[in-house]
Amino acid sequence: MHGSSIVLRNVCLEPFDSGADTVVIEGQYITAVDTWDQLQDALPKTANFYDCAGKTLLPGIDDSHLHAYLLGRQLFEVNVGPDRCADAQSIRIALKSVQDKYSGWIRGHGWVNGRIVGSGPEGTVAAADLDDVELLKPIVLSDFSAHQAWCNSLALQLAGITRETPDPSGGVIVRYADGTPTGLLVDAAVALVTKLIPKPKQTERLDALRAARDTLLSHGITSFTEPGVGPGASSLGDGSADLILIDDYKTLAADSELNLRVNVMLLFGGLGGTSVDHVREGLDDFGAPEFTDQPNFVNVSQLKIFADGIPGSRTAWMSEPYDNHGHGSLTLAGGTDAERLETLKGIFAAASKRGWQMGFHATGDATTSALIDLLLQNRSQADKRHYVIHGDFINDEDVARMSESGLFLTSQPSIRWFVSRNVESIIGAERSSKRQQLRSLVKAGVPVSLSSDAPVSTPDWKLSYAAAVSRSLRTEPDYTDNQKLTPLQAMTAMTQTPAKQSGAAAWRGRIEPGYVADLLLLNRRIDFGDDPWSVMESSVQATFVDGRLVFGEI
Ligand SMILES: [Zn+2]
Repeated sequence: MHGSSIVLRNVCLEPFDSGADTVVIEGQYITAVDTWDQLQDALPKTANFYDCAGKTLLPGIDDSHLHAYLLGRQLFEVNVGPDRCADAQSIRIALKSVQDKYSGWIRGHGWVNGRIVGSGPEGTVAAADLDDVELLKPIVLSDFSAHQAWCNSLALQLAGITRETPDPSGGVIVRYADGTPTGLLVDAAVALVTKLIPKPKQTERLDALRAARDTLLSHGITSFTEPGVGPGASSLGDGSADLILIDDYKTLAADSELNLRVNVMLLFGGLGGTSVDHVREGLDDFGAPEFTDQPNFVNVSQLKIFADGIPGSRTAWMSEPYDNHGHGSLTLAGGTDAERLETLKGIFAAASKRGWQMGFHATGDATTSALIDLLLQNRSQADKRHYVIHGDFINDEDVARMSESGLFLTSQPSIRWFVSRNVESIIGAERSSKRQQLRSLVKAGVPVSLSSDAPVSTPDWKLSYAAAVSRSLRTEPDYTDNQKLTPLQAMTAMTQTPAKQSGAAAWRGRIEPGYVADLLLLNRRIDFGDDPWSVMESSVQATFVDGRLVFGEI
């Protein structure tokens, strides 16, 4: 369909535009948006005209934090998530049924802390829960967040993990009281096992990317940021998201097979213990950032930094204490808060000097405060679109400061909805309920994007939308508060704002003349004044990227 013009008539462009009903595409660009009455006489008779029967047409979704490769890899693993397996027994049954398909390691994913009760300390999952005379292969199962690995005894044995093995910097080997490892590995410790798993071949990696692409296009996602490719990803998921993946993305793009616009974030150092040297050496080895502000498919211009952990494991750095009186801390290299702050400054200086945009994983309020301080001390970096990933807890006093600092935020309302009140016992009810103060941040002028963090959550943007506009919780559908986004704010946060964050605001994220034709057509008209959850009843009928129909039909 490339080349000839396409006219989409009778479309509904709400919530962005309630006046126009016709969109004209020529080549890769949108060339006109207006009413049919205004446009019809000027349109070439040779154009392809489609009557869309009043259905909703939106700019393609730009998911600013989505692990497409991990998502694709998981399609080739055993799903042991809560929808499939309710307890350890059902997980063993699921693994036994597939073990013959795996020549070496059995890999799975999706279990959720607290929903599977294991035989480890405080009910955590343990190797003993997987050991079974009929399961004779090494097993490693990532949790839904991809930050923890649950291994059987054979996997621990092959990795040589014993009582004597020290915790790696930035990671924890969970142990019984006598020091024996339980089989649960957290953050940087995950790499002790994943480094033994044979690396996927190029064909397997490309298949994972193609599978992810098909899933994303079916949801109308046309751009995304791939957060964390490089040596630091060795403790994330199955640990195979190495720098080679960038070549794989470029291979698919060169063959016109990618059909998705990706911003790759490099990751050095990993989930914990990152030092200035990790970043400096990694960036020098890689070379200059690869970025263009013209329409394209692959940019490599961002750096991911794990600045802290997550509240559930008390590794988010919080200004008020946890139930165990600790505060967590930055998870960067250093023995004290002061040393770790120096590391943060050093990393920021090294990466900004080399021209990289930075995205900081930060969930605790103290971490975001420190990042705001850093930006306010480096005013020349205020327009470089550095951003906070998650930012679940941000102090009221920091909301205006964050806007002033120039930091963007990439938030995940679907994760808040999914985990509901899971950290209430750890941080208290009041703080728990103040997770993701989206309305306050948007009102203060912080550029907020809504993302899925898939595969941590579903890549379906409609869930992010409904969760952000309703503020309800999975466990309490009627729950709400004063931090709701309006439909327009939520849709802007999944299209225009992420485009801006990616340095692409001038050419994608809007249905306007001069913008690329990255579009999604729903199978019905959405009334954005309705119950936000009614959006879930719609599905994507067609997805266009660069003016080409790449999913579905019109
Ligand atoms: Zn993530």
